[in-house]
Amino acid sequence: MEKLLEVKNLRTSFDTHHGEVQSVRGVTFDLLKGEVLGVVGESGSGKSITMMSIMKLLEENGKIKEGEIVFKGQRIDNINEKQMNKIRGNTMSMIFQDPMTSLNLLIPIGKQIMETLIVHKGMSNSEAFEKAVELLDAVGIPMGRARMNQYPHEFSGGMRQRVMIAMALACSPELLIADEPTTALDVTIQAQILDLMRKIKQTINTSIILITHDLGVVAEMCDRVNVMYGGVIVEQGLTRDIFYNTKHPYTAGLLKSVPNPERLGKEPLKPIMGTPPDLLNPPKGCPFYQRCDFAMRACKENMPPLFKIDENHKSACWLNHKDAPKVSIR
Ligand code: SF4
Ligand code: MG
Repeated sequence: MEKLLEVKNLRTSFDTHHGEVQSVRGVTFDLLKGEVLGVVGESGSGKSITMMSIMKLLEENGKIKEGEIVFKGQRIDNINEKQMNKIRGNTMSMIFQDPMTSLNLLIPIGKQIMETLIVHKGMSNSEAFEKAVELLDAVGIPMGRARMNQYPHEFSGGMRQRVMIAMALACSPELLIADEPTTALDVTIQAQILDLMRKIKQTINTSIILITHDLGVVAEMCDRVNVMYGGVIVEQGLTRDIFYNTKHPYTAGLLKSVPNPERLGKEPLKPIMGTPPDLLNPPKGCPFYQRCDFAMRACKENMPPLFKIDENHKSACWLNHKDAPKVSIR
């Protein structure tokens, strides 16, 4: 399958009063056309910052220090704001956890969707109006025509997220980045939104990067997964590799910490103890060293490379070294 996006050795830092926070420390992955890639990890692992780097939406004190981002065969990490503006909202869109932060509260939602269509698709007012109604219908907002003039506060949380998706879809993007799109919603609405995203994938063959900390969502939606920790990818593989052939203690810890209905009652839930590393002074060795039940002496001083388990599966843990002790991490 053709590659839509390639991220190579991305490093992103923020200048703060305390010094340089190294939020993303050498991240490499690709995304194929029509694929759904899950990105999981605790907050502060670098998931969102990786995506903001791709979209060029970093805060002012944030900067890509190193690496390349290639989208549809073209480098985009070094293009200017005007060129990037063309890509954003045209071939690349993003939806966030809280739609209220990205919707303009003072403008009716219909007008906001129309604006995207007018600016990016060059539609006339009346064309944009009809298309906006159509989009509202497509994302399951009934009587869209009547709701065009309503303001964001007149919609429920789930409906607002649908509006965001309608806006993201206005230009039939080839890449949709969804940053915890369902975290703020209740379970029923969450299922509907995921269903909607699946439909979108099928109808316009959009590639999706789905950031989530819900492994149930990953199991249901994703073809492949990047597990991030301490600003790096610690495990990368097909969804079934991540769940059934886990090769990193952090991934194993995440899997044990979810309330799995099949295991409930048989095994106590096990939170991962401790806190993630301080990225102001990132550790030299494995970022998971402090919290890892399997840590060896070498792990503290030496950053493990991404060991190749097979064609699609990689793990950045010294246990995958050929001379490492054979232990069961699950
Ligand atoms: Fe644990 Fe060492 Fe593997 Fe890091 S490299 S996850 S500390 S065993
Ligand atoms: Mg985040």
